[in-house]
Amino acid sequence: MGVSDTVFLSAHEALGHACIQRCDACGHDLSPLDPSPECPSCGGLLAIIHRAPVDVMGAPLSAKAIQHGFMQHCCALPMGHPSGVWRFESLVMPGAGDAITSHPEGNTPLMARRRVSEYAGCDGLLLKHEGYNPTGSFKDRGMTVGTTQAVRTGATAVACASTGNTSAALASYAAQAGIPGLVFVPAGKVALGKMAQTLAYGAKTLLVRGDFDACLKLVQEASRELGIYLLNSINPWRVEGQKTIVLELLQQLGWDAPDFIVLPAGNLGNTAAFGKALREAHALGLISRIPRLVSVQAAGAAPFAMGFRDGFITRHTVQAETIATAIRIGDPASWDRAVRAIRETNGLVISCTDDEIVDAKVAIDAAGVGCEPASAASVAGVQQLVRDGVIRDGDRVVAVLTGHVLKDPGMLVELHQQRPDFAKANRPIEIDASVQAVADVIAGSRTEAA
Ligand SMILES: [Zn+2]
Repeated sequence: MGVSDTVFLSAHEALGHACIQRCDACGHDLSPLDPSPECPSCGGLLAIIHRAPVDVMGAPLSAKAIQHGFMQHCCALPMGHPSGVWRFESLVMPGAGDAITSHPEGNTPLMARRRVSEYAGCDGLLLKHEGYNPTGSFKDRGMTVGTTQAVRTGATAVACASTGNTSAALASYAAQAGIPGLVFVPAGKVALGKMAQTLAYGAKTLLVRGDFDACLKLVQEASRELGIYLLNSINPWRVEGQKTIVLELLQQLGWDAPDFIVLPAGNLGNTAAFGKALREAHALGLISRIPRLVSVQAAGAAPFAMGFRDGFITRHTVQAETIATAIRIGDPASWDRAVRAIRETNGLVISCTDDEIVDAKVAIDAAGVGCEPASAASVAGVQQLVRDGVIRDGDRVVAVLTGHVLKDPGMLVELHQQRPDFAKANRPIEIDASVQAVADVIAGSRTEAA
């Protein structure tokens, strides 16, 4: 057993804390209030290791008692706090108390949608739609916890290097906490459309004269010297927040685990977080069996799928290219943890082409559900596994949709209005200002539908 294989701390190891931060590489332990972004001894990634929940006498709680606690917790807080993250506080950030910075977030729906099920060929398909979070993506779940850590450690500011969903979430939660949010991006390399939410929520956007690596280096140095708290993808508290996607969907299913949980995979933060959530839930007896995790990559950004095929003997990197920008990652940061997640859950890693992802997205959108392009990889993945006979009749499958349909409006305009070759385009129709013209359009759609 390696240093990072512990699921829960013993009382002896916990040294009076409800959780600690432990280095994955060397096992060095830090207090939960240490703001270091990485292991001070070896530079390794930090993980949060919890003590299993106990009662007031210090005795371990039963699974039933823990589940009951999740139900009671939000309602028991002053003013009520219906957050789908902080309901699970005892397994996320015990004792966060007044520092909690919440909109709230989570409590996202688990949807059964006949048209999407038919598309995927899977009757038992449910969609866990993380686009219903306050800034429109799952990142809010990690960011509420990361920002709370910044508040309780007295950070002067929070920062990340990103132009996508992460910076939108950071900007929103920094504003909520009342501390400055800083987003570092390479000057001249940013599509301002992607930054729109970040600018609106008031984060300072620093256009660094240099490339993305220069941004990362600067944000790390600035965090060490200026007391800025780093909220990049390897922040251990963000992982804890992202675990609640799984805890919440298990709770929604009455703790009767599905057969498969299928998710889009880029930087592998969610694959790692989902694996940790399932490991902990199983160790506590919250679930009696572990669902198979399926990480779905875009074919043009599939180093982890390549690794899976060779038994993870090689850590692959690729020059990533895909329309699904949120998973366009060539060198995933959370590789080792994701390998553990796939191994422990008898999981799978597959890839889908951009055409398959777009096709699935169009089906999800047209069902009135909608999602960002990367999200559709999960439904495309389900369709592939049904075709390959891996997912069978009667299997219960949860596919995670990570972001809202409005996250990538540029792609929608292109698909539906600008691509003459796209057969499923829903083109706007220009008409004369007459009722007859409207009647003709309705008659036309009836013919199409028939
Ligand atoms: Zn270390």
